[in-house]
Parts: sequence; C-alpha cells; structure tokens
Amino acid sequence: MNLKINIPKTTFSYNHKIFLLTIYNMLGQQVITLKEALTKSRDELELLRFEMESKAKESGLNAYIDFSLAGEGVPILIKDNIQVKGWSITSGSEILQGYVAPYNATVINNLQKKGFTPFGRANMDEFAMGSTTESSFYGVTKNPYGEDRVPGGSSGGSAAAVAGGIAIAALGSDTGGSIRQPASYCGCVGMKPTYGRVSRFGLASYASSLDQIGPITQNVEDASILYDAIASYDEKDSTSSSLELVSTSENLDANRKFTIAVTDNYIAEANPEIQEAYAKTVKVLEELGHTIVHKTMANTKYDIATYYIVATAEATTNLARYDGIRYGKRVEGSNLEETYINTRAQFGDEVKRRIMLGNFVLSSGYYDAYYIKAQKVRHLIRDEFNKIFEEADLILSPVAPTVAPKIGSTQDPLEMYKSDMYTIAINLAGLPAISLPVAKDREGMPIGLQLIGKAFDEQAVFDGALSLEKAVNYTK
Ligand code: GLN
Repeated sequence: MNLKINIPKTTFSYNHKIFLLTIYNMLGQQVITLKEALTKSRDELELLRFEMESKAKESGLNAYIDFSLAGEGVPILIKDNIQVKGWSITSGSEILQGYVAPYNATVINNLQKKGFTPFGRANMDEFAMGSTTESSFYGVTKNPYGEDRVPGGSSGGSAAAVAGGIAIAALGSDTGGSIRQPASYCGCVGMKPTYGRVSRFGLASYASSLDQIGPITQNVEDASILYDAIASYDEKDSTSSSLELVSTSENLDANRKFTIAVTDNYIAEANPEIQEAYAKTVKVLEELGHTIVHKTMANTKYDIATYYIVATAEATTNLARYDGIRYGKRVEGSNLEETYINTRAQFGDEVKRRIMLGNFVLSSGYYDAYYIKAQKVRHLIRDEFNKIFEEADLILSPVAPTVAPKIGSTQDPLEMYKSDMYTIAINLAGLPAISLPVAKDREGMPIGLQLIGKAFDEQAVFDGALSLEKAVNYTK
C-alpha cells in the first residue's frame, strides 16, 4: 500500500515518530525498495530509519548488532567487517571489542557521495569464516523464514535483515559465497562483483585474493543500483581495476537474449528439491528465449580443497596482526609470550582451526604439496570457466546443495566446508555472480540459484537475472 502522509518540514519529535510508526504498522506498510527510497525526502528518510530501528529491535532476528548512523540519506546496513569512521568494527569477534574505525572504507565514501547513509551494523560469522552466522561473538542470527533456521553466512545479518523487512538493502562481503549463500537461504538477492571491481580498502581482510564487497537487496534492480554506487577504481587497493565503469542500472535490459550454460553433472550433489528447481528454471530460461547449452564441470571436491588451502593460508597471514600489541584487545600475561597467547585465545574455535590449517599448508615441507598445488588447481578452475565462456554468456548453478539448515545442526566443520561447493570456485576464478530466489521447498524455505558471468560483465549478470526474476515472480 502506498501511504501519502503530509510530512512536516521540521525534524520529528520522538512522540511524533511513534505516532507515525503506529499508523504505518496499522496499514501493514512493507519496507520500500532501494529505488523507491531514493525518491524520498530527508524527513521521510528520517522516519524510515526510525521505522527500521524500531522494527529491528522488536524482530528477534538478531540481525543488527548496532544502530550507528553516518549521514542522512537512504539507510544501508553495513556488515561488521567494513570500516565506517567512528563506528565500532569487530568482524563479529571478541578480540576486536572496543576497536573504533579510524577511517572510512572506500565503499562507504562512495555510498555517501551517492546519497546513501551507512546505518546499523550487521551480524556475521567471526572474521567472515563460516556459512551459518553461528560463530559470531554476538550470537546467532535467525532466518526470517523460520526462526529455528540459520540465515546462512557469513553475511547472515545482512541477508536476514533485508529479507525480514528491517533493512532496505545491505552490504556484505563474499570470499567464498558469503553474500550469495545467505541471500539464497533467506530468499533475497545477493551479488558478488568481479574481483577488483569494488575496492577492498577498509574491508577487514579474510583472504585477500578472494574477498569482494557486494550488495544484498530485495530485488535485482536494487542490486545493480547499489553495485553501481560502490564500484570504483581505487588507488588505495593495489588489486583494484581501472577498466572503464559503465552504469549497469541505467542500462538494465530484461529482454536481452543470452546463451546460458547448464552443468548437468555438477548439480548431482544438490538435494532433489534443488535439482527440481534447477530443472524448472532451465525451462523458464528456454521459454524466455535464451539459448541453453549443456556443459560439464569438474568434481566440486577439488574446488573445496583448493579454496580451503588458499583461504586459510591467506587468513593466517591476515590475522597475525591481532596479537594485542598491534591490533586486538590485549589480555595481559606475565610475559610477552603469555600476552600473545592470552590475547589470541579470544579467537573462536572456527577461526583457530583455520589459523592452524593455514599455518600447516604454508609450513616448509608442506608448502609445495598443498599451497603451490592449490595455486595450480586454481588456474585449472579458471581455465575451465573460460572454456565454458567461449560458448556461453552466463552459467546457471545452484548456490548451495540444501536450503537453510536448522540452527545447531552444522556440527562437523568438514560438512560445513562441503556446503560451500557451489560458490567458492567463482571466487577462485574472480568472476561476478548473482544469487536470486526461484522457488521454495516443501517446508516453505527459499531456494536460490546463481547466474555466473564473465569477468567484468556485470551487465549480463544483472540483465539475465532480471529476466529470470520477472519470469519467476517469487513472492515471500
Ligand atoms: N563459507 C565460506 C568460508 O567459511 C565462505 C565465507 C565467505 O565468503 N566469507 O570460508
């Protein structure tokens, strides 16, 4: 329902806001899209932020961990690993309690220039390591489709808030699926840009050669708007691309026809309902006039092994700085070594596991057998994608082998790593991909699929996703 309220020019009093909020709630007003929000006045946006905060506090999803504000524009929820000057930034960890960001990440400066306002901190898995948001210092975030389910991870707070109607849009980070997988588990849209398109300056590094910041939104068009706002060349990020940037949202075209590769052998590991949703989606794409080509992809077990070697090796190096001397909440011991040990004992189990794994694969004697080998396989994975892209513009793939699991059901770390089988190869190859909801399983949990594009062809990714979104017409 579209509400027309005469908004007074002055800033609202608290009671006035409560009054307006009650009217909104009585009329069952849905959260507006990012596109609509960009047309609102300053006062309307103030009311909107108040509405978000009030609803988030009532919701019980535990998606927000803080409600800080930086500006007066359209509110964007920010994952707890992206620096916003003056805000606490903790990467969901105990070790960073009390740390305040001294500067803005480049994406935050970009957002502010375009009329957006960082608003609120989203919960996440500790240091973005995880697939369920259960490893956060702030406790688990719940899935709006079922509060006994995880929202996915690591950007679980961002996805749960957007899907739960308590954020208009959010930023997440994707090292091995952490934007696309939670979006898929929560029934919203999540997009990972090409490596180098969005600056990593001010993003707490997990695995620097894989990390990318990207949008989590209610629909594909909003994702392209938010992607356009954050993408830029940045001299402060040595891996940033200077390739010319063209607005994707201004050129969105749902009628373009693509050649889309489907990988029949590759989807065999997904559960039957996801395979069914995949098959239906292939039909929809055909009916839309896209050309389908059948391709094969190597076993996903190589992707998992390669990713967990590369990611943990880089994580070990990146997390060395949290020692209580350079960074991190110091826990004093009777000597320096004990201080290091006490301080680093604040890391959670999953982070410790990865630090150990990373040190192992980098240690002399194992370096060639694991790390160097993984780098070689990474090239093979990239070649495999390139080969498919000689014939296809896009690839359709599952995002995860299952829908969102129950909270507490993912006990075995190896099982959790395996659930990343469909997302991590895209990061290893540095490609852009978007996850969007296409169906629900028998219990009403969302199923998402992803469209993967050629490097720097975000336009095709958004256009293909828009055509699919319109045809599928997914509703909450
Ligand atoms: N689940 C993967 C991991 O734990 C991906 C995380 C991410 O993309 N940040 O490493």
